[in-house]
Amino acid sequence: MDDFTLKKLELLCNGIRLPEHILTRFSGYRFKRASLSEGVCFDLFPSGSSQAIPINIAAREAFVCKSPFMYDENKKAIFKNGQHFVQASLVEPPGWYACVLDDGTSFQEVFQVHYHSILAASLTNFCEFKETGRGCRFCALGYQIEKPKIKSVEQVAAVLKELIKQNIYFNEVNLNAGTLLDEKKNCDLYLHIVQCIRKITSVPIYIQICPPKDMSFIDRLIEMGVSSLSFNLEIYDEELRKDSMPGKARISRERYFKAMAHASKLLGAEQISSWLIAGLEPVESTITAIKHIISVGAIPFVTVFRPLIGSEYEKRLPPEPNTLIPIFDALGTSLIHLKYNRQKTKCGCVKCNCCSAFAEVLP
Ligand code: SF4
Repeated sequence: MDDFTLKKLELLCNGIRLPEHILTRFSGYRFKRASLSEGVCFDLFPSGSSQAIPINIAAREAFVCKSPFMYDENKKAIFKNGQHFVQASLVEPPGWYACVLDDGTSFQEVFQVHYHSILAASLTNFCEFKETGRGCRFCALGYQIEKPKIKSVEQVAAVLKELIKQNIYFNEVNLNAGTLLDEKKNCDLYLHIVQCIRKITSVPIYIQICPPKDMSFIDRLIEMGVSSLSFNLEIYDEELRKDSMPGKARISRERYFKAMAHASKLLGAEQISSWLIAGLEPVESTITAIKHIISVGAIPFVTVFRPLIGSEYEKRLPPEPNTLIPIFDALGTSLIHLKYNRQKTKCGCVKCNCCSAFAEVLP
């Protein structure tokens, strides 16, 4: 592993201390799912390179107060224990977040920007696994919500049309949601929104979804215009799956792999992925998961566990960077077998790479 990749892992694990005047510019995203939505995005500039490397760094969670990293906005640099670590610039939130729809919903409530120009939306602010006491313990969806809401086709359409009218650049739409227990309702939620988006724009659409029992739903999503899909296994070890994700663990690992293989045949391996959260299970287990995902023709997207505010695992700690080295080394080596061509990935977390060191270990 090269020095810069290790630096990225250190930042992903430790988070960064930001002064209050910077944090207030970034209103926390309230509808965060398992992901890293509430972190702050930076462009990192490794020495000797003019190419920006994206990263999403934790800045609000409790563990961050012990981080050795600080950002100096004047010097546009991240410092570790007072020593220069890497040049970096903040990715500022867009001005349009404050715009409001006729029904009073702010644009930011409908779409959040990931990195510079990815429009991301959680279609619900709740998850029925959580509502039935079987939610994923690392996930914060539903925290402090006033009432359960599903984003409407009209709201999504109205914001998209307004952004286009204002000439706001975006290069993909990234959709996820809490899980609805009725599979048809869960599938229709995505189908209706994708159908609506396709009438407005041809940008690639990425979806993160639990694998359905009925694989023909995947076909319908693709026919409707979905470009990339992610079936997020998150944890591979069966016992830890049951413990950390009592609801999702009822969906068998086999169904995840069947969905990945099915979708990969239709769209190609470059468009199909599965999140794995490093730090929630033994290193060997994550490495086995990486190999299994690749064996069915999909991409393992390894992220770093972040104890999100509002999740049951809020008081846990992220993994130590050194424990991630064998995982990311194995990821790079295993990807050789997939003959993966990153240029072909149209959209999604794999393309963005803010929340992982995936691209850094590519062969
Ligand atoms: S399935 Fe798990 S990770 Fe997904 S929204 Fe529900 S509780 Fe969160």
